[in-house]
Amino acid sequence: METTPKSKFVKVRCSKCKNEQIIFGNASSIVRCLVCDKELAYPTGGKSRISARVLEVLE
Ligand SMILES: [Zn+2]
Repeated sequence: METTPKSKFVKVRCSKCKNEQIIFGNASSIVRCLVCDKELAYPTGGKSRISARVLEVLE
């Protein structure tokens, strides 16, 4: 599941270890899971491509 949210912060769940983590939606570098180090989001020219399940978008 991949999305490109407009909001700045999204709550995601790691697809590997199920850890829930709030990440920045416009990250300029790869965001990794704090628990298992899996990549959660990749920078794609301004927006992040989220590679984890998005649980909630924070306004
Ligand atoms: Zn994880």
